[in-house]
Amino acid sequence: TKRVYLFGDGKAEGSARDRNLLGGKGANLAEMCNLGLPVPPGLTITTDTCNAYYEAGRQFPEGLRDEVSAALSKVGEMAGRQFGDAEHPLLLSVRSGARASMPGMMDTVLNLGLNDETVRAMARESGDEGFAYDSYRRFIQMYANVVMGADHEAFEEILEDEKARLGHELDTDVSAEEWQTIIARYKQMIEEELGTPFPQDPHEQLWGAIGAVFSSWMNARAITYRQLHDVPASWGTAVNVQAMVFGNFGNTSATGVAFTRNPSTGENRLYGEFLINAQGEDVVAGIRTPQSLTEAGRIESGSDKPSLEKSMPEAFAEFVEITKRLENHYRDMQDLEFTIERGKLWMLQTRNGKRTARAALKIAVEMADAGLISPQEAVGRIEPGSLDQLLHPTIDPKAERNIIGSGLPASPGAATGEIVFTSEDAVEASRTGRKVILVRVETSPEDIHGMHAAEGILTIRGGMTSHAAVVARGMGTPCVSGAGGLRIDSRRKRLLTLAGELGEGDTITLDGSSGQVLKGSVAMLQPELSGDFGRIMEWADAARQMKVRTNAETPADARAARSFGAEGIGLCRTEHMFFEEDRIISMREMILADNEDGRRAALAKLLPMQRSDFTELFEIMNGLPVTIRLLDPPLHEFLPKSPEEIAEVAGLLGVDPDLLASRVEELHEFNPMLGHRGCRLAISYPEIAEMQTRAIFEAAVEAAKSTGAPVEPEIMVPLVSLREELDYVKARIDAVARQVIEESGQSITYLVGTMIELPRAAIRAARIAEAAEFFSFGTNDLTQTTFGISRDDAASFLQTYRQKGIIDHDPFVSIDVEGVGELVRMATEKGRQTRPDIKLGICGEHGGDPASIRFCQQVGLDYVSCSPFRVPIARLAAAQAAI
Ligand code: ADP
Ligand code: MG
Ligand code: MG
Repeated sequence: TKRVYLFGDGKAEGSARDRNLLGGKGANLAEMCNLGLPVPPGLTITTDTCNAYYEAGRQFPEGLRDEVSAALSKVGEMAGRQFGDAEHPLLLSVRSGARASMPGMMDTVLNLGLNDETVRAMARESGDEGFAYDSYRRFIQMYANVVMGADHEAFEEILEDEKARLGHELDTDVSAEEWQTIIARYKQMIEEELGTPFPQDPHEQLWGAIGAVFSSWMNARAITYRQLHDVPASWGTAVNVQAMVFGNFGNTSATGVAFTRNPSTGENRLYGEFLINAQGEDVVAGIRTPQSLTEAGRIESGSDKPSLEKSMPEAFAEFVEITKRLENHYRDMQDLEFTIERGKLWMLQTRNGKRTARAALKIAVEMADAGLISPQEAVGRIEPGSLDQLLHPTIDPKAERNIIGSGLPASPGAATGEIVFTSEDAVEASRTGRKVILVRVETSPEDIHGMHAAEGILTIRGGMTSHAAVVARGMGTPCVSGAGGLRIDSRRKRLLTLAGELGEGDTITLDGSSGQVLKGSVAMLQPELSGDFGRIMEWADAARQMKVRTNAETPADARAARSFGAEGIGLCRTEHMFFEEDRIISMREMILADNEDGRRAALAKLLPMQRSDFTELFEIMNGLPVTIRLLDPPLHEFLPKSPEEIAEVAGLLGVDPDLLASRVEELHEFNPMLGHRGCRLAISYPEIAEMQTRAIFEAAVEAAKSTGAPVEPEIMVPLVSLREELDYVKARIDAVARQVIEESGQSITYLVGTMIELPRAAIRAARIAEAAEFFSFGTNDLTQTTFGISRDDAASFLQTYRQKGIIDHDPFVSIDVEGVGELVRMATEKGRQTRPDIKLGICGEHGGDPASIRFCQQVGLDYVSCSPFRVPIARLAAAQAAI
């Protein structure tokens, strides 16, 4: 097998297509060579070689050394100098590069090949001793740190110490002789600290560096990164060994980075930074403040240091030409690295640039408008989950801001909620429907559940890349991090602010876009869904086949969902309508009644309230389909629990507390998830289903009148496993429908269907479809019942399962295609066999998860239904699944 691929002099053995074999960096270096761009020559050792290295127990595969040395002499020919040569030494950079760009891998080693002898050759050849020794000390520092594992700080200390002693402020002030003193101290320190001298043999240096790149594939940072991003260990990393070019060769040399468009706004303008007389990571390391590439950028940033455009106009012009070519070639925004050596431009890297969601939209739309990509490609360029960043409310600019602290704008959007100080409290509060802001000194992976439950996250410590910031951005949750002016007194559960103390339960607002922390709740503006966002959505809608509905029962949710483009309601959970104060009383009366008449009397009070709920929903949906699920949870959920609550409720209801207590006791279930719920309730107490059905049909009549759009209600019977269950409930529904149609003189078309959320229902779907006109896959319960795990209890061990590699994702987040998915597929096929036009949808949490949506497309569902804020994500994901 060929293990080494050459590039240089306008041609390469590989190309951008060889990303898997050459890694992203190597493949793009090859591609740039093939395009005739100025790239220092070099070679790429394949990712397969990395795998072979591990298979052989961390040994270089046989023949590799020969292959590298043959390629290296060709690189030397192209560069006009040879590796290890005492007169004209070739110096190298050794760079890692996996298929996907991966932080956590080995840092690049520059200037490799320098030693006490070659440094003198370099000084002679360049006529610049200072430059040669600066390069040498950089190399020793990097190599000792990256390859030999010496502490980076120790070198910085020596350097600072010497600079202070000599009275220099900048590295560029240090003379050749002074560098030599520093180098001697470096070497001595290495020998003392590591017990081995700094290697002088260039070949030993090279193989040390190559081995270090391979080893870094299995270091802890890289392994963690791969786990978080689903990158398989089997990919391996490539190694790029490349001739050096020098940005630190005096004031006509420079190094820099650029984006072809602004990565945070998407604006179509070259954007970047550089440093004169600098090398490698100096630009990002913050040693000196970098300068703007363009004049426009310089003016905007208010800097008085000249732009590259001004100071090196020729190199700049060539660079601009190249950026345009590369963007057109890759048909995407590029992230570039370059170096200028004595006026001559060299390209060192290009790749598709990372960008914010806003920038992604703008770039995709503008590239499609320019004809560079098709609208479908534009749709494919947007990560559906990233839209979340754009869907959150922002603080009304006209609102008064009572600022009590500020930190970093770590994750966009604004959020209001009550303060909680622990993740457990956040989870607990959100269970009871309260909105909370999680306030922590800093967060750790144990806080994930609390972070999910919170509306917003505030941390006292940590930067833009702290755990809280990274995780919050990933979840689309507003976050302010590093609010150093605030303090937490965790024992007393107090937040100490500029404007006094706040306690648990006090309301605050976070502005994740500015980093401000505000007291109380503040007026918000809804997100802007037109412009680029609207264009992409339009193209997505044209491309997708599945409809997107929403799960909603409140008018506010239904309206929000429509504004996000929902095409109906896929799940209206009626029980949520019974928890309001004036209603739960009647609900409790019904539960306490000891006969059917008593229950009917209580239900009669609920009827008008339910009817008006449904009327409003139908009106908002204006003729779009609405699926309403009959009462699902076990009745005890509506009853008080603690003795104090029982006493209070008994008082309100005017009943004996003991009677209420004994009813609570009777209704207690050991396993409510598998208890007296779903259609089982409708079979025990058909009057409940009848009341709900009547409310639905009467509302349909009313809404049809007020909107002029006919309403076609879809009534959904939950938790069916036997066709006979559905038959029984359906007979009641049909009877009530006939009554209402007769009474109103209005004809109403409606569907009766069922949720498929039990394995038996999936298995018997052919029979059930004889009675059901639609199936809606309730994949939350279906996942619970297929795995036999309860969602509320599973978090702890599923986390362990993930850590131990037993599962690779949470089946409640992304559908378990092989198990739960197989049941969905089976039920889909069987249902269609019986009833070819059966309507099929999904209404579990999975309906808003892009990977699960892809699966829904594959099995051919008619629609997905998800929470309002996920509707745009689902529209986009459904389009991508269809393209
Ligand atoms: P990363 O993947 O972390 O960006 P790179 O391998 O791209 O690491 O190297 C980082 C920097 O090192 C480059 O941006 C460039 O400035 C410098 N560098 C790499 N190779 C060379 C080279 N052949 N000549 C000069 N500088 C180089
Ligand atoms: Mg790079
Ligand atoms: Mg269910």
